[in-house]
Amino acid sequence: MPLSAPEAFHLAGVVAAHGDRAAIEARFDRVRAVLDRSWIGYALRNRMAEDERRAKELALGFFSLQQACPLLVDERCSIYADRPVVCREYVVTTPVEGCARPGTAPLRRVPLALQLSEALAAVAGQRLGAELGRTVPLPLALAFADEHRALAARTFPTDALVADVLAALRV
Ligand code: SF4
Repeated sequence: MPLSAPEAFHLAGVVAAHGDRAAIEARFDRVRAVLDRSWIGYALRNRMAEDERRAKELALGFFSLQQACPLLVDERCSIYADRPVVCREYVVTTPVEGCARPGTAPLRRVPLALQLSEALAAVAGQRLGAELGRTVPLPLALAFADEHRALAARTFPTDALVADVLAALRV
């Protein structure tokens, strides 16, 4: 669940305003602690997810830790209207059981003509600086937003941003 940096800031704001803020933050802390104790935490801290092949290994490794998304409550997304773009793009037509065993069960995803999450990550990387990395793993989004508060206040001309995103989408 890779987010662009602006989406991580947005998510932190959504959680801060959520009625269940404390419970959600506690779930983020728990998942983060599990990640930190695993090789995945090390790999994420060292930006290995930026490599496409490794990103897939990391995603499968994350599933093997059996940690649900910290925003999942009673099998539902607790921020559905504000869910990240990458979640909106992940639409499958195979039975839900397969989602618990990615890599082993057949999963059929609805193909997308455009990958907005990729475009947002590319533009955020260009605008905010490559040292931040292109994406933020969702379970680390709150920590990332906290560590980079000054960046959250940065603004850019809307026209230029839209042009950048369209260029990244190649439309
Ligand atoms: S849709 Fe919601 S619960 Fe599912 S991965 Fe995205 S943020 Fe988490």
